[in-house]
Amino acid sequence: MNDIKYVIDGFKSLKPILQAQVLKTDYEGLGVSDAEELGEHFNIAIKCMEKQIPKKPIKINSVEFKGSIRMSFKSADCPVCGGHIDTDDEPFFCSHSGCGQAIDWSV
Ligand SMILES: [Zn+2]
Repeated sequence: MNDIKYVIDGFKSLKPILQAQVLKTDYEGLGVSDAEELGEHFNIAIKCMEKQIPKKPIKINSVEFKGSIRMSFKSADCPVCGGHIDTDDEPFFCSHSGCGQAIDWSV
């Protein structure tokens, strides 16, 4: 298991434990809202880490440049946001705002 998957699993199992502790402590009477906020922050962190794990793009179109030194070109849709991505700009991450999904172009 790689480091990111290990940390994601850790965050997923820690979240309910920490939320239960926050609820039990109920610091300054804010236990319920603090637990909700903690859950939201954990969810965002988990989502960000999951985007670091490369995913295959969908609907890949390939263009081969035979007899040229130019490398082949691929365009596709991002598997997370559905935005157009290609191997020319930002080949390793989806550059659509707020996305940033890591892309695995290998077949
Ligand atoms: Zn995207």
